[in-house]
Amino acid sequence: MTITNPLLLQNPIGKINSIEPQHVVPAISLVIQENNEQIERLVSQCNDSDISWQSFMLPLEILEDRMGKVWSPVSHLNSVCNSDELRQAYDEALARLTDYSTALGQHKGLYQATKALYDARDSQDLTDTQIHILKDSLIGFKLSGLHLNSDDQKTYSGIQKRLAELSSKYEQNLMDATMAWTKPVSDKNDLAGLPETELSMMAANAEIRELQDYLVTLEIPSYLAIMTYADSRELRQEVYTAYSTRASDQSENKKFDNSQIMENLLKLKYEKAQLLGFNSYAELSLESKMAENPQQILDFLMDLNDASKAQAKEEYSALSDFAATRGVKNLQVWDVAYYSEKLKQQNFQISQSELRPYFVVDKVMTGLFELTEHLFSVTFEAMEDSNTWHPDVKHYRIKHNQQIVAEFYLDLYARQHKRGGAWMDHYQSRFKMDNGKLQNPIAFLTCNFAPPVNCQPALLTHDEVVTLFHEFGHGIHHMLTKVDELSASGIANVPWDAVELPSQFMENFCYQAEVITKLSAHVDTGESLPKDMLDKLISAKNFQSAMAMVRQIEFSLFDMRIHNTQGLSSAEIQSVLDQTRDEVAVAKPPQFNRFQNGFSHIFAGGYSAGYYSYKWAEVLSADAFSKFEEEGVMNQSTGKSFLNNILEKGGSADPMDLFVAFRGRKPSVDALLKHSGIGHN
Ligand SMILES: [Zn+2]
Repeated sequence: MTITNPLLLQNPIGKINSIEPQHVVPAISLVIQENNEQIERLVSQCNDSDISWQSFMLPLEILEDRMGKVWSPVSHLNSVCNSDELRQAYDEALARLTDYSTALGQHKGLYQATKALYDARDSQDLTDTQIHILKDSLIGFKLSGLHLNSDDQKTYSGIQKRLAELSSKYEQNLMDATMAWTKPVSDKNDLAGLPETELSMMAANAEIRELQDYLVTLEIPSYLAIMTYADSRELRQEVYTAYSTRASDQSENKKFDNSQIMENLLKLKYEKAQLLGFNSYAELSLESKMAENPQQILDFLMDLNDASKAQAKEEYSALSDFAATRGVKNLQVWDVAYYSEKLKQQNFQISQSELRPYFVVDKVMTGLFELTEHLFSVTFEAMEDSNTWHPDVKHYRIKHNQQIVAEFYLDLYARQHKRGGAWMDHYQSRFKMDNGKLQNPIAFLTCNFAPPVNCQPALLTHDEVVTLFHEFGHGIHHMLTKVDELSASGIANVPWDAVELPSQFMENFCYQAEVITKLSAHVDTGESLPKDMLDKLISAKNFQSAMAMVRQIEFSLFDMRIHNTQGLSSAEIQSVLDQTRDEVAVAKPPQFNRFQNGFSHIFAGGYSAGYYSYKWAEVLSADAFSKFEEEGVMNQSTGKSFLNNILEKGGSADPMDLFVAFRGRKPSVDALLKHSGIGHN
């Protein structure tokens, strides 16, 4: 091992540009080996009578912190600058890392020391946060198979490794399937209906690949542009078909079919649950979440469905009627976005593409920073000449009282070899080290917006602005934390079904007049969004909101149902989805639709038996925001209370306690329904 491996530097992020696939496995292997040696030493030194946070947990967190700094750039680059070589290295390192963490979860010595410290919590004068961490850590040991006999432990680690491999393969297939399909268009008339910005994006798609004219791709901005604006019904159908059959048996290219992977994943998850003494993977998943059991979730979702279904049907039939007046008698799924956009135009005289010129990316960022500054008393500073992985990436610092408290990297635009969607991930967390030195949190904020074209700045749709606010909400949860312990700082240790609280909370500000005026400035005239357009935007907010609600319920129910049973074949997975759609969906997708083959949230991400978290946490976020509505959306003392009780607290306490501390009572579902305009018109 030479020192030229950037992953082994003290701070790999400073050299992220120089990280090559060949650095990955040697760095991970070395850190695993060194950490294992240190852990053995630590456990052998720990003796139950004088164990303390400083002598045991703190050194462990230091090891974990180091591993995070080596692994997170690798996993981040694998998502945003993917290549065959990096994939291979990532997969190999992931396998070793999975073995490493499984072994730690089953380490008897570590468990005993953790238990001893927990039992000595009173005499050791531990803080509430430290006790909370130890309690959750003991649950973690249970879920890692600590109590299994050694044969079962071997089976368990085999399952863990295979699950990691399969999830990674699922994501790779989806990425490859997305890139494998493109459609060159030489006649501009074939793209009739597309606004100028969307058309330029199609031209840029072609240019990047050194092709002529226009290229339609399945990257999100391109897919949405066709579905929303293309006048050609055939083109919409063709693009919809390609998109909704990605990575499936229905796709032209069967090479990337995820069907078998899904079967294997469900089977393995069920085996894992059984091994650990649960009836289903859903039960296992809920063991570490805010919700108590699968039935509670199923009831929660069906209650929301009952509250929304009738209105969703009305919205859909209004859409159907509208399309009929335009000559389309049998509305198909590939018509829904298109006619919805036209209907929205008719009802509210507003369209996402008309809004674009008002949301110039730099102005939006400035507005978002001003809002955050106003509510949470921090300032932002752009960094020049930072080392990053792509020229589009921006690097910022966050300050409080002139002191740097956090940093983040912002990577906004869709491109090839970058995973779709938007997400926040962290490079490092706030952490008070053994020398008393404080490490600041650093986050990665990633989106897939339409990139700037023709030397114009990037112009965002209002929907994209909402997505940006969402991810930024995750970002400030991670970055404004005041927790000193690595294991509960920022989003660490926040239960999965509470983690969407700050993100969905932030979305609400995108509909407030005071905020919109700060975010908008027309690209040509500099004028902020005119009052009448703003009014229309706000009144259009809940356009088809019940349809959106039942769609999210469909995904959540499907996820909960396939994980709340034993393994399923891909035909059975399909039939659970079909049944769920029969119960809740208002727009029925065609037979060939293979939504499940691209549902990476649950098959490749961490949302399995957890997709309901979006709706669950939206109850919390809507109710939290209603306090701002009562006290004034720009009210700084309400902002301070949200900062102190929610953002700063991270994963240091039970999320229900944190919510009650902020709101003064338990959450109610009313605010969510009211915000969605459901049952209140
Ligand atoms: Zn989120």
